Amino acid sequence: MKAAVVYTYGSKIEVVDLELGGVGPNDIRVKIKASGLCHSDVSVQTGSLPFPLPMVLGHEGAGIVTEVGSNVSLTKVGDHVVLSALIHCGNCDNCIKGRPNLCLWGLNTIFGGKNPDGSLRLKDAQGKEVYQFASIGTLAEELICHEKHAVPIPKDVSFEAACLTGCGVLTGMSAVFNRAKVEAGRSVVVIGCGGVGLNVIQSAAAANAGSIIAVDLHQEKLDLAVQFGATAVVNSSKIKDLPATIMEMTGGLGADYVFEVVGVPELVRQGWDSLKIDGTLVVIGVHPSNSESSLPAGQFSTSEKTLMSCLYGTSRPTKDIPLAIHMYQQGKIKLDELITHRFALEDINDAVAKMNSGKDGRGIVVFK
Ligand SMILES: [Zn+2]
Ligand SMILES: [Zn+2]
Repeated sequence: MKAAVVYTYGSKIEVVDLELGGVGPNDIRVKIKASGLCHSDVSVQTGSLPFPLPMVLGHEGAGIVTEVGSNVSLTKVGDHVVLSALIHCGNCDNCIKGRPNLCLWGLNTIFGGKNPDGSLRLKDAQGKEVYQFASIGTLAEELICHEKHAVPIPKDVSFEAACLTGCGVLTGMSAVFNRAKVEAGRSVVVIGCGGVGLNVIQSAAAANAGSIIAVDLHQEKLDLAVQFGATAVVNSSKIKDLPATIMEMTGGLGADYVFEVVGVPELVRQGWDSLKIDGTLVVIGVHPSNSESSLPAGQFSTSEKTLMSCLYGTSRPTKDIPLAIHMYQQGKIKLDELITHRFALEDINDAVAKMNSGKDGRGIVVFK
């Protein structure tokens, strides 16, 4: 089977033939039908998110279960599933208190790129073992992963729409509903309107936010943002001072919530300065591991502003993926419109170039 593999940081992604190993007792085998491409995939390629190589990219996918291990109980052969990076044990303190995104067993699995049993499931033609991004690696025709990566979905939902709920939709939606808990009527600013930011916008709209200001460098994304519920837009390539602009647009008060969805350290400060007293800054963007942001410490004692770190949207995939699918089926959120480009696996480097141009919503790879 073919898969998109990074062999060396900074070089092009290679589409190569890989051999799949056997299905372990807790594993499932999935034929992938569609997979999104996310900025984190590109961060692995460039090395700004350091992972062991060679590695199959892709961490949001949808497909059909074709084989299950002897202990598998969550899915059966023929099920349609969404695969999410987030895997969790269900028993630890973080899982029990409803924060499975912080499950250490899960995070160690995700960052190790191996099956939770510690072994690898893939080999290339030279016999070299290959890692799977987030222990799934969805930019592949097939994969084997632990059953807990998979969430069953109704069969009448398209794989193309469904695959997006594995990362981008899950992260954006959950950041609004689970982390910030946006209140009706409040003002929201979203900095960065790509595959995650658009979902913050449409979820804030679903939460009846009073105003939603979308901020991006690219007009194409701002046009999309309006389709997803933004009530005003700011093209940050055309202004000098984002906080001053936001202050002006919010009657001198600032915003109740600012979501930083880019991963640029300076934007943390700009987001903070755009907040109303008592406002909340939610940092969703994945920042380079060696970067730092600074904030005016004096304000901590007087402004009652809140700074929230937000890993994977503070999501609970087994609850929130079905919720996203349900809201899509009810017309409360858009999924099809998020897809701005479709690629074949062979054209994965074109998909990366399109993403790096900063102009698309979500590019997906579609499999036959
Ligand atoms: Zn992602
Ligand atoms: Zn756990």
